[in-house]
Amino acid sequence: MKRRDIIRKVGAVSLGLASTSLAEVHSAPQHPLNKSGKINCDIVVVGGGTAGVIAAIQAARLGKNTILIESGSQLGGTMTTGGVSFPGLFHAWGKQIIGGIGWELVSECVSLNGDKLPDFSVIPDNTTIRHWRHQIAINSSLYTLIAEEKCLQAGVKVRYYESPASISFKRNNWLVKTVGKGTSTEISCNQIIDCTGNACITAMAGFEVLREDETQPGSLIFSLDGYEYDDLDLIKIPFKYHNLLRQQMLTRSLSENTPNNFPSTVPYNYVYVPSADSTTSVTHTEANIYGRNELLKIIRELRSYPGCENIRISNLKSETAIRETYRILGLYTVTREDYIEGVDFEDAISYSFYPVDLHREGKKIHQEYLKEGVVGKIPLRSLIPKGSKNLMVAGRCLSSDRMANSALRVQASCMGMGQAAAVTASLAIELNTSPEKVPINKIHAELRNQGAIVPA
Ligand SMILES: Cc1cc2nc3c(=O)[nH]c(=O)nc-3n(C[C@H](O)[C@H](O)[C@H](O)COP(=O)(O)OP(=O)(O)OC[C@H]3O[C@@H](n4cnc5c(N)ncnc54)[C@H](O)[C@@H]3O)c2cc1C
Repeated sequence: MKRRDIIRKVGAVSLGLASTSLAEVHSAPQHPLNKSGKINCDIVVVGGGTAGVIAAIQAARLGKNTILIESGSQLGGTMTTGGVSFPGLFHAWGKQIIGGIGWELVSECVSLNGDKLPDFSVIPDNTTIRHWRHQIAINSSLYTLIAEEKCLQAGVKVRYYESPASISFKRNNWLVKTVGKGTSTEISCNQIIDCTGNACITAMAGFEVLREDETQPGSLIFSLDGYEYDDLDLIKIPFKYHNLLRQQMLTRSLSENTPNNFPSTVPYNYVYVPSADSTTSVTHTEANIYGRNELLKIIRELRSYPGCENIRISNLKSETAIRETYRILGLYTVTREDYIEGVDFEDAISYSFYPVDLHREGKKIHQEYLKEGVVGKIPLRSLIPKGSKNLMVAGRCLSSDRMANSALRVQASCMGMGQAAAVTASLAIELNTSPEKVPINKIHAELRNQGAIVPA
């Protein structure tokens, strides 16, 4: 019996209450679900994914009291929980274009896992070497650990299993009411960075968001084992499964010494999930159930073919990775032409390099490559919802048209945006102003101070 319970019991006896039942004596303390809390901080980052991790670390490293709210149980978002664990592209045309905190985390992850970086001096030309060979295959489990450690070391207060239920803006501050596992918390802060990927906070605050009638499919990512590709009699196995089975062999080539340390195709298997949408718990649940059900059908059927009798799932990601949902309507919307022509914006805060890359179910991926020497740029205005104060976004939901977004959404670009948004939000606090009014030369200077690469 605990000391406190003994004291209670002795007290009860001395008061002549010795007949009190044990249930009463051991009455439970107030259950945490009945409590609600109030906290203050400088910056709230919502979404601990690709962009949000970097934004939170940067804000905290600049001395801002930072809270990171993540609805899941770990950091990294699409890179880790979704299984797209090959961030790209940090390099263009033989030069590094994105550095800073994103590069710090990714290169530390590569080094701690004993992996090798691609040879960035070999320039992809879309015929002999494709762009993805400059992506960096990382161990996603290790990345979640490093991301969490870096957040904690910087002083970020991480809150898993939590989501904002409402937000309001009063007297130059945001009040964010969150719920998580039945508890509610009121967080008062000066700046918010929406890194939800779906522009959730922007929409909740009442600002306009953009969306296509039809969105790109999501992917439920998995890997298979229990068979040898080279031993399979492919004539007896339907053609639609050949690529899926071939993946195991291609993924193995990762550990071999390919010239660019990256296999000739992306190292995962996936089920396409039409119109997959992570915006609400209902739509993301539907996307997960659809993908899992399809995978189960595949496994059942595959096991009936010769050589595949022992096939098994060796890895399955816990949620469907989502390509496209809502984007913000920002102070500026980056267009396809801006992107592929590498337009120079005065307020450019980061580079971005990838082909336009639109996935369509049942059709070939639409890809457009940038001309030699051209690199896309991200203007600060595309991270600021039109009409907002003290609110920014970072990640795939930046203000952009559909084609530009299909390139801008890649991971290194999201990381660059995360760092830039946090620097801007921190300066806005110091200058007692809103992000769009922070002088761009101050943002550039601080970004450089923090190791980021700023478009010249
Ligand atoms: C199948 C697929 C293949 C891809 N291939 C590549 C590739 O080859 N190379 C490449 O670089 N990029 C690729 N991408 C693109 C890239 O992975 C994503 O666009 C990018 O990771 C998005 O980053 P983000 O920070 O915007 O969102 P995410 O990384 O998805 O992070 C969003 C985070 O916010 C959290 N969240 C959402 N809503 C809330 C809420 N209301 N409250 C609290 N938390 C919330 C989520 O749980 C998540 O952790 C691919 C994407 C997909 C889906």
